[in-house]
Amino acid sequence: MEEGLIKKLLASIKCSVCGRRYEAGNVSILGHRQDTWYLRAQCPACHAHSLVTAVVKEDSLPKLVTDLTEREPRKFKDAVVTADDVLDMHNALKDFGGDLTELLNES
Ligand SMILES: [Zn+2]
Repeated sequence: MEEGLIKKLLASIKCSVCGRRYEAGNVSILGHRQDTWYLRAQCPACHAHSLVTAVVKEDSLPKLVTDLTEREPRKFKDAVVTADDVLDMHNALKDFGGDLTELLNES
């Protein structure tokens, strides 16, 4: 699946803090493993950063995976994700050989 399409699909999803839709230009793809894509998005309205895991199948709409509760997006609204954080995530995913369950259990 093309990265441009992944960004467009994510643009159909709303910010969990303010409800504004993401825009393709505010979405960065960190990497993917099979159907699971790891993305970083910044809301164009409230500028909240989100790390998004999307399971994308060719024949269906993307399904977001998150372990945040309904209140947590507001709690983390002002948390700063630096370029180094994104680079660390990119490097960790690049060399990671397991699946999402293993990834979450490691941290
Ligand atoms: Zn927002």
